[in-house]
Amino acid sequence: MQTTYINLQIMDRWTGKTAVVTGASAGIGAAICVALANAGMTVVGLARRAPLVDNLKSQLNGKGSLHSKQCDVSKLEDITAAFQWVEDTFGGTDVLVNNAGVFHQGQFTDLGDKMMSDEEIISTIDTNLKAVVFCTRRALASMKKRNFDGHIVNINSIAGHYIPFSSLFNLYPSTKHASCAFTASLLNELADFKNKIKVTSIAPGLVDTAMAEEAAKYFPTLRASDVADAVLYVVSTPPNVNINELSISPVSEKRL
Ligand code: NAP
Repeated sequence: MQTTYINLQIMDRWTGKTAVVTGASAGIGAAICVALANAGMTVVGLARRAPLVDNLKSQLNGKGSLHSKQCDVSKLEDITAAFQWVEDTFGGTDVLVNNAGVFHQGQFTDLGDKMMSDEEIISTIDTNLKAVVFCTRRALASMKKRNFDGHIVNINSIAGHYIPFSSLFNLYPSTKHASCAFTASLLNELADFKNKIKVTSIAPGLVDTAMAEEAAKYFPTLRASDVADAVLYVVSTPPNVNINELSISPVSEKRL
C-alpha cells in the first residue's frame, strides 16, 4: 500500500467529499486516486481504461472509496456525461484533479524524420489543454450550484515553465505553458467574483511512469506517489491559503 508523509488529520474537512481525478488508470493519476481515497475522500477516477481504476481498490485502507467512470477526456460529450454522472451519483464535484495527459514523441512539422501524425497533434491539444478547460468548467459549475468552495488542481509540468531542448517534445510544452496560463487566468477570474474556490498548478519534473519510461533510464525521477503527496499537501492547506504554483523535482534534476 502507498504511504504518505503528509499528516492526514489536516485532510479531515475533505472526509466524504467527492474528488474527480482525470487520467486515473495509470501513473500519477492512479497514485492520486489512492492517496485521496485513503485520506477519506470519495474519489471518481476518469479514464478510457476504466477497469484499471477498479484494480486500484486493492490499495485502499477503507477510509474513503474509489469509483471508476469510463471517459475519454478529449471528447467534450464524454466530459459532460461524466460530470453529470458524478452529480447524479454523489451530488457534485468538490475537488477536481486535471491530471490526464499525453506525450507523443516526434516533430510537428515534416522538417525532421520523426513526424507526428495529425491525430497525435490533435490528441496532445485536446487532452492536455481542451480537457483541462472543460473539466474545470464542469467542476466549477457544480461548485457554484451548491455554493461550495472546492479546489481545482492542475497537474502541469516543468515543461509548462521552460522549453526542453529536444525538438521531439513538439507541442507538449505549448500545451503545458497554456495550462499554466489557464491556471493564472482562472485565479484572476475567481478573485473578481470574490470566490473562495482554490486553484493550484503542480509542475513535476521527471516522474517514473509509462510516459517517461525511456527518459527514466537516464535521469533521476520522482515516484508517482511523490506527486500524489504534493496534491494532498495543496488541498490540505487552511481555507484562507491557496498554493498557486508548486514545482516538484527529483533531487539533482537538471533541465532537460
Ligand atoms: P501515464 O502514466 O502515461 O498516464 C496517463 C494517464 O492519462 C492514463 O491514466 C491515461 O488513461 C490518461 N489519459 C490519457 N489520455 C486520456 C484521454 N483522452 N481520456 C482520459 N484519460 C486519458 O502518464 P503520467 O506520467 O502519469 O502523466 C500524468 C500527468 O502528469 C500528465 O498530465 C503529464 O503531462 C504530467 N507529467 C508527467 C511527468 C512524467 O515525467 N511522467 C512529468 C511532469 C508532468 P487511459 O489511457 O486509460 O485513458
